[in-house]
Amino acid sequence: MALGKGILIGHLVTLRRFLLTFTHDIRTGKALKRRGGGDLPVDLFERPKTLPVIQQDTETEGIFTVEYPDERLPTYERFRVLPVLVYDQEDGNVRCTCCNICAKVCPPQCIWMSQAHSPDGKPVTLPEEYYIDMDVCMNCGMCSEYCPFDAIKMDHNFEISNYERHQTHIYSLQDLLVSSEYYAKTHPDAYASTEQVTERGKVAKKKDQRLQKALQLSRG
Ligand code: SF4
Ligand code: SF4
Repeated sequence: MALGKGILIGHLVTLRRFLLTFTHDIRTGKALKRRGGGDLPVDLFERPKTLPVIQQDTETEGIFTVEYPDERLPTYERFRVLPVLVYDQEDGNVRCTCCNICAKVCPPQCIWMSQAHSPDGKPVTLPEEYYIDMDVCMNCGMCSEYCPFDAIKMDHNFEISNYERHQTHIYSLQDLLVSSEYYAKTHPDAYASTEQVTERGKVAKKKDQRLQKALQLSRG
Protein backbone atom coordinates (compact mmCIF):
# COMPACT_ATOMS: atom_id res chain seq x y z
CA MET A 1 0.00 0.00 0.00
CA ALA A 2 2.95 2.26 0.71
CA LEU A 3 3.72 2.26 -3.00
CA GLY A 4 1.77 5.09 -4.61
CA LYS A 5 0.24 6.29 -1.34
CA GLY A 6 1.75 9.76 -1.72
CA ILE A 7 0.38 10.08 -5.27
CA LEU A 8 -3.08 9.03 -4.08
CA ILE A 9 -3.04 11.56 -1.21
CA GLY A 10 -1.91 14.29 -3.62
CA HIS A 11 -4.83 13.53 -5.96
CA LEU A 12 -7.28 13.53 -3.05
CA VAL A 13 -6.06 16.96 -1.92
CA THR A 14 -6.54 18.28 -5.47
CA LEU A 15 -10.02 16.71 -5.67
CA ARG A 16 -10.97 18.28 -2.33
CA ARG A 17 -9.89 21.75 -3.53
CA PHE A 18 -11.75 21.20 -6.81
CA LEU A 19 -15.01 20.31 -5.04
CA LEU A 20 -14.65 23.10 -2.47
CA THR A 21 -14.14 25.68 -5.22
CA PHE A 22 -17.24 24.46 -7.09
CA THR A 23 -19.49 24.35 -4.05
CA HIS A 24 -18.23 27.78 -2.95
CA ASP A 25 -19.00 29.29 -6.36
CA ILE A 26 -22.47 27.69 -6.45
CA ARG A 27 -23.24 28.92 -2.90
CA THR A 28 -22.13 32.48 -3.70
CA GLY A 29 -23.90 32.58 -7.10
CA LYS A 30 -20.64 32.88 -9.03
CA ALA A 31 -20.73 29.53 -10.79
CA LEU A 32 -21.65 31.03 -14.17
CA LYS A 33 -19.44 34.11 -13.85
CA ARG A 34 -15.87 34.39 -15.09
CA ARG A 35 -13.44 34.17 -12.20
CA GLY A 36 -11.77 37.55 -11.79
CA GLY A 37 -13.97 38.99 -14.53
CA GLY A 38 -16.45 40.90 -12.35
CA ASP A 39 -19.97 40.31 -13.69
CA LEU A 40 -18.84 38.83 -17.02
CA PRO A 41 -20.72 35.56 -17.62
CA VAL A 42 -18.98 32.41 -18.78
CA ASP A 43 -19.50 31.82 -22.53
CA LEU A 44 -20.66 28.24 -22.67
CA PHE A 45 -21.57 27.99 -26.34
CA GLU A 46 -19.80 30.59 -28.47
CA ARG A 47 -16.62 32.60 -28.51
CA PRO A 48 -17.34 36.28 -27.82
CA LYS A 49 -16.63 38.78 -30.61
CA THR A 50 -14.59 41.01 -28.31
CA LEU A 51 -12.28 38.97 -26.15
CA PRO A 52 -12.71 39.90 -22.50
CA VAL A 53 -9.73 41.35 -20.70
CA ILE A 54 -9.52 39.72 -17.30
CA GLN A 55 -7.79 41.02 -14.23
CA GLN A 56 -8.00 39.52 -10.79
CA ASP A 57 -10.07 41.87 -8.68
CA THR A 58 -10.05 42.22 -4.90
CA GLU A 59 -13.29 40.19 -4.61
CA THR A 60 -11.95 37.06 -6.30
CA GLU A 61 -11.09 34.16 -4.08
CA GLY A 62 -9.34 30.93 -4.89
CA ILE A 63 -7.19 29.98 -7.83
CA PHE A 64 -7.29 32.51 -10.64
CA THR A 65 -6.95 31.23 -14.18
CA VAL A 66 -7.00 33.28 -17.36
CA GLU A 67 -8.48 31.10 -20.08
CA TYR A 68 -6.25 32.27 -22.90
CA PRO A 69 -6.96 32.67 -25.83
CA ASP A 70 -10.65 33.22 -24.94
CA GLU A 71 -9.61 35.63 -22.23
CA ARG A 72 -6.48 37.67 -21.82
CA LEU A 73 -4.69 39.78 -19.28
CA PRO A 74 -4.65 43.56 -19.80
CA THR A 75 -1.77 44.87 -21.93
CA TYR A 76 0.08 47.65 -20.18
CA GLU A 77 1.68 50.38 -22.23
CA ARG A 78 5.22 49.59 -21.12
CA PHE A 79 4.83 45.88 -21.90
CA ARG A 80 7.33 45.20 -24.68
CA VAL A 81 7.73 42.30 -27.06
CA LEU A 82 9.31 42.91 -30.46
CA PRO A 83 10.54 46.03 -32.25
CA VAL A 84 8.71 47.85 -35.06
CA LEU A 85 9.88 50.64 -37.38
CA VAL A 86 7.78 53.80 -37.39
CA TYR A 87 6.92 55.87 -40.46
CA ASP A 88 5.25 59.27 -40.22
CA GLN A 89 1.56 59.04 -41.02
CA GLU A 90 1.32 62.55 -42.49
CA ASP A 91 3.99 62.20 -45.20
CA GLY A 92 4.76 58.47 -45.29
CA ASN A 93 8.38 59.21 -44.37
CA VAL A 94 10.30 56.25 -42.95
CA ARG A 95 12.10 57.67 -39.92
CA CYS A 96 14.99 55.20 -40.05
CA THR A 97 18.10 56.70 -41.62
CA CYS A 98 20.06 53.44 -41.73
CA CYS A 99 22.60 54.81 -39.24
CA ASN A 100 23.21 51.25 -37.96
CA ILE A 101 23.29 52.24 -34.27
CA CYS A 102 20.51 49.80 -33.32
CA ALA A 103 22.41 46.94 -35.00
CA LYS A 104 25.57 47.87 -33.10
CA VAL A 105 23.92 48.03 -29.66
CA CYS A 106 21.70 44.93 -30.12
CA PRO A 107 23.15 42.39 -27.64
CA PRO A 108 22.38 39.22 -29.64
CA GLN A 109 23.16 40.97 -32.95
CA CYS A 110 19.87 40.13 -34.62
CA ILE A 111 19.48 43.33 -36.69
CA TRP A 112 21.07 43.90 -40.08
CA MET A 113 20.42 46.39 -42.87
CA SER A 114 21.74 47.91 -46.08
CA GLN A 115 21.61 51.51 -47.20
CA ALA A 116 19.53 52.80 -50.11
CA HIS A 117 21.16 54.65 -53.04
CA SER A 118 19.86 57.36 -55.36
CA PRO A 119 19.59 56.60 -59.11
CA ASP A 120 23.03 58.17 -59.62
CA GLY A 121 24.54 55.80 -57.05
CA LYS A 122 24.91 58.19 -54.10
CA PRO A 123 23.99 56.81 -50.66
CA VAL A 124 20.78 58.22 -49.19
CA THR A 125 19.70 58.26 -45.57
CA LEU A 126 17.16 55.46 -45.86
CA PRO A 127 17.39 51.69 -45.47
CA GLU A 128 17.06 49.65 -48.64
CA GLU A 129 16.78 46.47 -46.62
CA TYR A 130 16.29 46.07 -42.89
CA TYR A 131 15.90 42.74 -41.08
CA ILE A 132 15.34 41.52 -37.54
CA ASP A 133 15.49 37.86 -36.59
CA MET A 134 12.60 37.69 -34.13
CA ASP A 135 13.64 34.29 -32.79
CA VAL A 136 16.94 35.75 -31.65
CA CYS A 137 15.58 39.06 -30.34
CA MET A 138 15.51 38.98 -26.55
CA ASN A 139 13.03 41.89 -26.19
CA CYS A 140 15.50 44.07 -24.32
CA GLY A 141 14.48 47.35 -26.01
CA MET A 142 18.08 48.59 -26.40
CA CYS A 143 17.56 49.35 -30.11
CA SER A 144 14.65 51.59 -29.21
CA GLU A 145 16.55 53.31 -26.39
CA TYR A 146 19.55 54.17 -28.55
CA CYS A 147 17.88 55.13 -31.85
CA PRO A 148 18.64 58.85 -32.41
CA PHE A 149 15.75 59.25 -34.88
CA ASP A 150 12.86 57.90 -32.79
CA ALA A 151 12.45 55.31 -35.52
CA ILE A 152 12.37 51.97 -33.75
CA LYS A 153 9.89 51.21 -30.97
CA MET A 154 8.85 48.18 -28.96
CA ASP A 155 5.44 46.74 -29.85
CA HIS A 156 2.89 44.74 -27.82
CA ASN A 157 2.09 41.97 -30.30
CA PHE A 158 3.16 38.59 -28.95
CA GLU A 159 0.93 36.34 -31.06
CA ILE A 160 3.38 35.53 -33.84
CA SER A 161 3.57 31.76 -33.65
CA ASN A 162 3.18 29.76 -36.86
CA TYR A 163 4.18 26.46 -38.38
CA GLU A 164 7.49 27.61 -39.85
CA ARG A 165 10.12 29.07 -37.58
CA HIS A 166 12.95 30.01 -39.91
CA GLN A 167 12.18 32.39 -42.76
CA THR A 168 8.86 33.71 -41.45
CA HIS A 169 10.45 34.88 -38.22
CA ILE A 170 12.99 37.03 -40.05
CA TYR A 171 11.05 40.26 -40.40
CA SER A 172 11.86 42.54 -43.32
CA LEU A 173 11.30 46.28 -43.65
CA GLN A 174 7.76 45.77 -44.91
CA ASP A 175 6.89 43.48 -41.99
CA LEU A 176 8.32 45.92 -39.47
CA LEU A 177 6.81 49.20 -40.63
CA VAL A 178 3.96 50.71 -38.57
CA SER A 179 2.50 54.21 -38.77
CA SER A 180 3.09 56.90 -36.17
CA GLU A 181 -0.69 56.82 -35.64
CA TYR A 182 -0.53 53.14 -34.67
CA TYR A 183 2.30 53.87 -32.22
CA ALA A 184 0.38 56.83 -30.72
CA LYS A 185 -2.61 54.55 -30.20
CA THR A 186 -0.68 51.70 -28.54
CA HIS A 187 1.57 54.01 -26.46
CA PRO A 188 -0.54 57.13 -25.72
CA ASP A 189 1.35 58.20 -22.57
CA ALA A 190 4.80 57.78 -24.10
CA TYR A 191 3.71 59.54 -27.31
CA ALA A 192 2.41 62.55 -25.37
CA SER A 193 5.40 62.71 -22.99
CA THR A 194 7.61 65.83 -23.06
CA GLU A 195 10.63 63.69 -23.88
CA GLN A 196 9.07 62.19 -27.01
CA VAL A 197 7.48 65.48 -28.14
CA THR A 198 10.93 67.14 -27.94
CA GLU A 199 12.52 64.18 -29.70
CA ARG A 200 9.97 64.35 -32.53
CA GLY A 201 10.65 68.08 -32.89
CA LYS A 202 14.40 67.38 -33.25
CA VAL A 203 13.77 64.60 -35.74
CA ALA A 204 11.48 66.84 -37.83
CA LYS A 205 14.23 69.47 -37.90
CA LYS A 206 16.83 66.93 -39.01
CA LYS A 207 14.39 65.67 -41.66
CA ASP A 208 13.90 69.18 -42.98
CA GLN A 209 17.68 69.74 -43.13
CA ARG A 210 18.10 66.51 -45.08
CA LEU A 211 15.37 67.57 -47.50
CA GLN A 212 16.96 70.99 -48.06
CA LYS A 213 20.34 69.34 -48.67
CA ALA A 214 18.82 66.92 -51.19
CA LEU A 215 17.09 69.81 -52.97
CA GLN A 216 20.34 71.76 -53.17
CA LEU A 217 22.14 68.73 -54.59
CA SER A 218 19.45 68.16 -57.19
CA ARG A 219 19.63 71.84 -58.30
CA GLY A 220 23.25 72.00 -58.72
S1 SF4 B 1 16.23 52.23 -36.44
FE1 SF4 B 1 17.20 54.08 -35.60
S2 SF4 B 1 19.18 53.38 -34.80
FE2 SF4 B 1 18.42 51.79 -36.20
S3 SF4 B 1 19.32 52.28 -38.18
FE3 SF4 B 1 17.30 53.21 -38.13
S4 SF4 B 1 17.68 55.30 -37.40
FE4 SF4 B 1 19.51 54.13 -36.90
S1 SF4 C 1 14.93 44.41 -28.53
FE1 SF4 C 1 17.09 44.02 -27.97
S2 SF4 C 1 17.50 42.03 -28.86
FE2 SF4 C 1 15.62 42.75 -29.85
S3 SF4 C 1 16.33 43.77 -31.71
FE3 SF4 C 1 16.22 45.34 -30.11
S4 SF4 C 1 18.27 45.43 -29.21
FE4 SF4 C 1 18.13 43.53 -30.38
